[in-house]
Parts: sequence; structure tokens; C-alpha cells
Amino acid sequence: MATIASNLQLVTARINQACSRVGRRPDSVTLLAVSKTFPAETVREAFHAGQRKFGENYVQEALDKIAALADLRDQIEWHMIGPLQSNKTRVVAEAFDWVHTIDRLKIAQRLNEQRPAHLPPLQVCIQVNTSGEASKSGVAPDEALALAQAVSALPRLRLRGVMALPAPTTDPALQKAQLHAVRVVFDDLKIKGLPLDTLSMGMSADLEAAVEEGSSMLRVGTALFGNR
Ligand SMILES: *Cc1c(COP(=O)(O)O)cnc(C)c1O
Repeated sequence: MATIASNLQLVTARINQACSRVGRRPDSVTLLAVSKTFPAETVREAFHAGQRKFGENYVQEALDKIAALADLRDQIEWHMIGPLQSNKTRVVAEAFDWVHTIDRLKIAQRLNEQRPAHLPPLQVCIQVNTSGEASKSGVAPDEALALAQAVSALPRLRLRGVMALPAPTTDPALQKAQLHAVRVVFDDLKIKGLPLDTLSMGMSADLEAAVEEGSSMLRVGTALFGNR
């Protein structure tokens, strides 16, 4: 059975190869290990293999894991990457370092009010929906600027960039087009003056394409931990 350490090596090699194909430095891409559904002990194993940044989707599950790994709290960066409802913002503001899924100003305002004073500002990304499906989370590209400007004015949040979860597809051209559309939104916000450094896109199946389209943070679950 593959260990997490060997999977981590494989994923790192995939990232490095993709970077070298497009002339990017490997250290321009951050790997976020998506540990949803896996127990705290699996996260601990990944930590011992050198991984420090973890993404979680479900608030209660994440809180339990963060508590079980309290001894590592200072060394782990916890990222909330799942949809966030307003009744969960307080615990998220208290427990996480990052939130990737801001798609409404109301959620951002609540996180801003609830971020404890003794913690640094919460690092956040705006989730953009470039697939145009009504059912999916994320703001439409033409609403991204207004939301980004409003979020960047909140003192207890620090807007870092844009996150996207493109619709799954096996068509490489469509995959590339969706990732490219996110990149265009990200670049446009920067041109409009927002000091962004994080483009959060790319998962196990499309991480190479995401690196080619400029992703700076890959959110990888299955390729590290196995099937859920
Ligand atoms: C589950 C999940 C991932 C990881 O997906 P894999 O295909 O397992 O790598 C990345 N981002 C989000 C938002 C997810 O929910």
C-alpha cells in the first residue's frame, strides 16, 4: 500500500514537472493537502512526512481534527475550503487560518467581526464561479471586483486571492478553458489594484493544467490520501 510520504513525493514530482514545462519556479506553487473525511491520525502522518498546510470542507469534522491535533496547532496552517453558512462563521473565525470560499459580503463581514483580536487577520480568498452553473457556489466573474473591494476593506480579514472549483470534466480543452477563465478574473483584479498573491485552483486530476494556468495553491486530496 502506498504511504502518504510516497504519495507526497509523487505529487511533488508532478508539480515540479508541470512547473518546469512552463518555466515556473516550484516554490511558486503551494500544496494544500485536502484531508476531509480522513481522521486526525492521517493528518498527523502527513505532518510527519513534512506537510504543513491542510484543507478541510466540513466545519464540525475540521474542529474535531484541529482539537485532536492541538499539539501541532502552531505548526499547521488550517484552510477552510468548503461552503460556509453564516451560523458557522464564528467557530471558523476562531479555529482556521484561511477561508477560501467567500462568495457573499455578509459572510465576510461576520468573519471580520468574529475574528478574535489575539489572532492575526484571517487570510481569505473570494470563490469565483466561472462554470456558470446556478447550483454551484462562487460569485460570477462580473461580481468579483465589487466583492473583492468590499472584502479588502475589512480590517480583520486579509484578501489573498481567488479560489475556484471548476466543474469536473474529462475534456482537457474544457478543463483548460475553465482554469483559464479563473486566471483571467485573478489577473483582472490585480490590474484593478488589488494586491493579490493567491490563485487557489487545481486538484488531484487537474493539477498539471492548473499549474500551467498559473495556480499558486493546489488543493490535493485523493492523490495524497487515496479514495474517499
Ligand atoms: C475535495 C476537494 C478537493 C480535493 O479534491 P481531490 O480530487 O481529492 O484532489 C479540492 N478542493 C475542494 C474545494 C474540495 O472539496
